[in-house]
This record gives sequence, structure tokens and C-alpha cells, in this order.
Amino acid sequence: MLVHAWKDEASCWINGERQTSSEKLEVVDPATGESVSEVPWGGTEMAEKAVEAAWSAFPEWSNRLPHERAEVLKEWAAGIRHNKNSLAELLSREQGKPVAEALGEIEVAASFVEWYGEEAKRLGGEVLPPGKRGQQITVLHRPVGVAALITPWNYPAAMVTRKVAPALAAGCTVVIKPASETPLIAAALIQLLIETELPSGVANLVIGDAKLIGKTWLEDHRVRKISFTGSTAVGKELMRQGADQMKRLSLELGGNAPAIVFDDVDCDRVADAIVDNKFENCGQMCNGINLIYAQESVREELEEKIRSRVAKIMVGRGTDKKSQMGPLINQAAQEKVAFFVEDAVNKGARLLCGGEKLTTGEYADGFFYSPTVLAGVESGMALTEEEVFGPVAPILSFQSESEVIERSNRTPYGLAAYLFTNDARRIKRVSEALDFGMIGVNGTSLSFPQSPFGGVKESGVGREGGRYGLEEFLELKSILTMLD
Ligand code: ADP
Repeated sequence: MLVHAWKDEASCWINGERQTSSEKLEVVDPATGESVSEVPWGGTEMAEKAVEAAWSAFPEWSNRLPHERAEVLKEWAAGIRHNKNSLAELLSREQGKPVAEALGEIEVAASFVEWYGEEAKRLGGEVLPPGKRGQQITVLHRPVGVAALITPWNYPAAMVTRKVAPALAAGCTVVIKPASETPLIAAALIQLLIETELPSGVANLVIGDAKLIGKTWLEDHRVRKISFTGSTAVGKELMRQGADQMKRLSLELGGNAPAIVFDDVDCDRVADAIVDNKFENCGQMCNGINLIYAQESVREELEEKIRSRVAKIMVGRGTDKKSQMGPLINQAAQEKVAFFVEDAVNKGARLLCGGEKLTTGEYADGFFYSPTVLAGVESGMALTEEEVFGPVAPILSFQSESEVIERSNRTPYGLAAYLFTNDARRIKRVSEALDFGMIGVNGTSLSFPQSPFGGVKESGVGREGGRYGLEEFLELKSILTMLD
């Protein structure tokens, strides 16, 4: 099996072939501003060509035996694992996260491919009781058809495989558009997929103008499904555009996750869990903790335990082994974080550590922000309403269970919520009362191949992961037959 260096290999892929374009996109390292690579930049024409390829490949791929589709996914997972070090390096350079974190993401990416390869074999239908004598009711699963997959820059490897793998397992063919900030890792993963026994046209990748490509795919009758991960604003726009043709939609959008800490916990363990989650990927995680609600009697202790951990986080280039946290993705993100912190401090929040853009020395050319902890955060500050998407841990205080549930549910979002307590009855009550798609109890890891991932309210529709993630790419067909 080939080990790639990935240098200058990135391309768009249609019908198993590299695509060229007179226009190029320069991909920049957010830690240094240096150019990582150039990729072809596509638009309407390339987007149409990709659908044509996926449409032509659909009959053959959807009729393959499930274990044959599984074989391709198994090979793809092996290719990803075989190349994990160079993939992690590439991901770190274009996205900024530390290489160790990038390696973790590559393994997650491979685990989704592996799991859906296995699940592809278990796709069965159902025979239902007859409604009248001599009747047979059979329910079949059919792949929805050509699926358009639009992915974000924060987990640019895992989000590609979490969509492509169930789509292919279901028998769909795909057209993919990665975020323009991070096209290289998507291109590398699709190249590895194309290097398997995948028939040409089953997976196609277009890098380019998001609006044009999105519009082309949403207006094309042959595209039956849109699976999108990104901002709530764009998700709503896609839902509007998709209405005309009644496209099937899966949308994984923003969140505003509370972490509720009750006073019966071990604050050291909780502080470890919260800091690990909050500062992963420089705080750019849709299910990342946004607001830390500490019950008043443990608030001071927790504030200090979080502060002391955060103050030690080493910030630097992702490719530097010492780094525990990299830069933000771009300058706009850096400015946005600075705004949220300034707004909170102006309205009375206490800065326990951090709170500044890092702009000198090794940080001069990147988009770094110091790991920050804010105490005394209250409603009315902008960061309680909106997702900060940065390395800021805001701590609030609460008195009672019912009060914190009511405050947590006030948000229009509903992706993830976390709670920390050792009281089993309270775990049941609070996790049932919180209006979120996922609840982390005494832990913060939520993304596993077998587990449904997704939100309620304005955090989206549909689920990724598990058999639910596969169902998103399937239609039901009922066949009612008279046999006598
Ligand atoms: P973020 O704010 O995290 O960058 P976005 O929602 O803007 O999130 O982007 C997520 C993905 O959606 C990216 O691949 C981006 O290029 C794409 N995208 C952005 N706007 C549109 C659009 N109007 N139509 C289709 N895709 C879009």
C-alpha cells in the first residue's frame, strides 16, 4: 500500500480523475500565514460535472452486494490508517490543531469508515403482518440516490468520513464540497478512497465557491439528499433552497452547550474533563462547552481548578510537539473571540487568565488567542447568547437544579449539554429535562461511530453515527403484494 507525502497532490476529483482549473485556491497555515499548497478552484461547471458522474455511477453502485460495498470501505479505512502520520501532519498544517490531536481525528475518521463498512452488511428490510388474507407487506431500504455532502473546517477529516462512509454503505453515490479553509485533508482522504476498488464516479470532490456549488446541487433534481455540517445560518439557507425539490436534509449546526456542575462532585476530575473539552481544537467544536454553570457552593473551588489548568496550556504551532493548543482558523475568528471577551469584561466579568490576542514573537503571523477563563459571567453578555467558537471558558453560578435547567434550556440551540454529579436520581432527572440532542454525564466525549450525534431545535435535523446515520441515506419502500 502506498504511503503518500501529500505535497502538491491535492486535487478535485470527478469520475476517478483529477480535475484542473485555471483558478487556484491558496491554502494558508493559520499558525504562520505561510502557503501550504494550492488547489484547483471550481464552480458551477465542475459542480455539474460531479453530479453527472455520481448520477451515472449510481445504478451500478446501489446494486452492488452489501458485502462488496463493505470491502471498499474496509480498504479505505486501511489506507487512512496506513497514511495516518502524513495525514495528521497535513491536517495540522492547514487547520492549526496540534499533530497529536490531528492523529486522534484521523483515527476517528478511520473508525467511522470501518464501522459503516461492517454495518453495510446488516442492512435488512422487514416483512409485516398482512392487512388482508393473501397479502404480503414487505419494507425495503433503498439508497436515496446522489447525496451532496458539505463539510466544515473544524474537524475536516472526521466530518468527511462521517458522511461519506454511511452514504456509500447505504448505496448512495456522492458529491462532496469541503470548507475552503481545509480542502487538503478532504482531497487526501478522497484520493485514498479512489485508490481502493471504488468504481469511478461513486465519490466526487469539488473544491470551490460555496454558494455557486451549493446552488448548483440544490437546483439539480438528480441530487436527492443534502448532508451539511456548519453554521446555523447556512443550514437555514440550505433548508430554504432545498424546499423547492423537497430534498432530504441532514443538518448538523451550531450549539451553545452548557456544562452543569453540581456540588457533590470531585472538582479535580470535573476541571480536567471541562478543560480537555473546552480547549480541544482551540475551542472550535460544535459540541464544545460554551457555558460552565457551577453550583454556588463549589464555584470558587472550580474556578481556581479550571484557571490553574488553563494557565498551563502551551500555545503554539500544531506541528511543534510541545503545543497543546494551536491558532484559531483565521483572523475573523480571532477578532470574534476578542470581541466576546471584551464585551464580557466590560459588562463585569472577571478575567482569571488569558484574555488577549497573541501577536508577538512566534505568534506574530498566526491567529492565536490566549487560553482564557472568565468568572462572574451573567446573562446579558454576548457570549451567553452566541457560540464563541474559541478558547474561552466562561463560568456562571447557579443555586438550584430547576433554575439551572431553565437557564440552560433558554437557548434556541440544542446540540449537546453536559452534567456532572454523583447522584443517580439527579442524573436521570436532569438528563431527561435538558432539551438537547446529546447529554454527556460525568464525561465529555460524544462522537463514536455507533452513537447518534446531532441536535434538536436550531442545532439541526437528523443524526450522524450509528444505524441512525445510515438511515439518513435510505428511503423506505413498502411493497404490498396480493399472493392469491
Ligand atoms: P463556518 O461559519 O463554520 O465556516 P459555514 O456554515 O460557513 O461554517 O461553512 C460550512 C460549510 O458550508 C463550508 O464547506 C462552507 O464552504 C459551506 N457553505 C458556506 N456557505 C454556503 C452556501 N451558501 N451554500 C452551500 N455551502 C455553503
